[in-house]
Amino acid sequence: MSTVQLLSINPVKTSSAAAPDCFALGFKVQTPSGLEEQAFTLSYRTTRFMCPCAHCVDEHSGQRTLKLDQVPQDIRATGVQRIGRYAVSISFSDGHKTGIYSDETLYELSQTEGSTQNLA
Ligand SMILES: [Zn+2]
Repeated sequence: MSTVQLLSINPVKTSSAAAPDCFALGFKVQTPSGLEEQAFTLSYRTTRFMCPCAHCVDEHSGQRTLKLDQVPQDIRATGVQRIGRYAVSISFSDGHKTGIYSDETLYELSQTEGSTQNLA
């Protein structure tokens, strides 16, 4: 039973070069004090770089084979599709679309690489 549920994943267009386009992610998280909703933003480039698929991570060693400088600076997400109940498939402008990100993976990424942001 997952303790994290992805509620929403939406592209955000920003006009600032310092804040590149990103995803806005909403989660429902089971915490010791009860269910909590948390929101993060995560850049497309980080999301692409952290792709968990077998092309980007060696299946046996778990080592990431993709290098950050292989990911274009101006990469964009071109599509997001829900896969089952606990994962999403994300397509990117470099043609890569084999990455399937579980809700847990996206939450961990948001916590380590994303930023909390009140977009309202
Ligand atoms: Zn990949």
